[in-house]
Amino acid sequence: MNAHEQAREHLLIAAKEFDRCIKCGKCRSVCPVFRVMANELFVARGKLKIAQMVADGTLPITKRVREALDECLICKTCTANCPSGVRTEEVVLRLRWYITTMKGLHFVKAIIFRFILWQRWPLTIGAKCIGLAQRIFFGIGPKNPVRLLFPLFGISHRRNFPKFALRSTLGKYPEVVPAVGKPKMRVGYFVGCAANFIYTKTADAVIDVLTHYGYEVVIPKAQKCNGTPVFANGDYDGAKKFMEHNFALFDRYKLDAIVVACSSCGLSLKKEIAHFIPDTAQRREFTGKVYDIHEFIEKHITLAPKDLAPLNKSVTYHDPCHLGRGQGVTKEPRAILKKIPGVNFVEMKNPDVCCGGAGSYSVTHYTNSVAINRQKTTDIKNADTELVATGCPICVMHMQDNLIQNNLPQQTTFVIELLAESLRKKRETEPVR
Ligand code: SF4
Ligand code: SF4
Repeated sequence: MNAHEQAREHLLIAAKEFDRCIKCGKCRSVCPVFRVMANELFVARGKLKIAQMVADGTLPITKRVREALDECLICKTCTANCPSGVRTEEVVLRLRWYITTMKGLHFVKAIIFRFILWQRWPLTIGAKCIGLAQRIFFGIGPKNPVRLLFPLFGISHRRNFPKFALRSTLGKYPEVVPAVGKPKMRVGYFVGCAANFIYTKTADAVIDVLTHYGYEVVIPKAQKCNGTPVFANGDYDGAKKFMEHNFALFDRYKLDAIVVACSSCGLSLKKEIAHFIPDTAQRREFTGKVYDIHEFIEKHITLAPKDLAPLNKSVTYHDPCHLGRGQGVTKEPRAILKKIPGVNFVEMKNPDVCCGGAGSYSVTHYTNSVAINRQKTTDIKNADTELVATGCPICVMHMQDNLIQNNLPQQTTFVIELLAESLRKKRETEPVR
């Protein structure tokens, strides 16, 4: 099947979902984009109609059609609430794949996906340069004039970014980090771009917790982006290359399990991969081995109070869309938090409502992503904890930005970092091994 035939197939599959829609309007009451835009074009039902009309040739691919498809967080809230089981986020993705194949990939995206992300060395150098600039210019704080340059790169001058690391995770660690004691398992670690270049402490935490509990950690140096930003932006063929690369790479290491500490990377390696790699026993074996880090800990590790030091912090938890609705992982992160001594866990209202981050959406559609986040910021404020823990780097970044914009003192963090902090504190005061 050539690329155009394949694109047409994506369009037809998307259009078929229209027939299952009973036009009940339930999606209007739950879609975060509809909540701020109040326009039928931007809700699930509207997107299904677009798919149907593009497929039967009554609607050309206009700027407005592209705009409607870009206004989707792929948050799966409509799918989770649809009485007919319509999978709108898949319709949106397939339409994006169709349009990009037929009309071509924007040259800036082509450079980013096909060169910068694929080669990875430009990202390594770029991240280091940004990290240095952030330190020299005092972290590009809210009043720093350097912010005035942000719009040149299509970024709002109001946006707050975390510090980029000067040394990437993949550059810092050897390929195999031995377990403490006799290894129980050989566990591969899919790092993901955020934990490689920005949130390297999350990677430290994953490696620390796993090795402490007797797991050998394998971090294949040649791993690349999982392909989520690539396929979410319509580049099906580009994403296929990333999927095939990581699939073949991790397969070579003969691993017992593969852990991921980023909700979108986990979703793509467990489920989205099915769009790109044929259904074989090898693929099923691979996806069956992929665990979100919280899931892995809850399944394999006993967190005994004697191994953990008290943290004395109040913490609430935000469910990332791609972890909760995407992978069904909701109990595990909460269970871990509750096992850390001294953590006062407070459930916020609506913990599973999308924070508006949604990958590059919070950069390309900043005003809307901030408007979508308003409810989340209110719920965090009312939970009145010191920390908001979660399992997705984009949520950490976007929620923190909005807390700063609202002059709120809460800090966002990762569940795994809190667990590692408790373990380290215990080791410092009373070595256990
Ligand atoms: S909730 Fe589902 S069935 Fe109802 S209008 Fe939306 S997409 Fe259609
Ligand atoms: S995936 Fe989320 S943003 Fe997209 S249509 Fe559904 S509810 Fe709205």
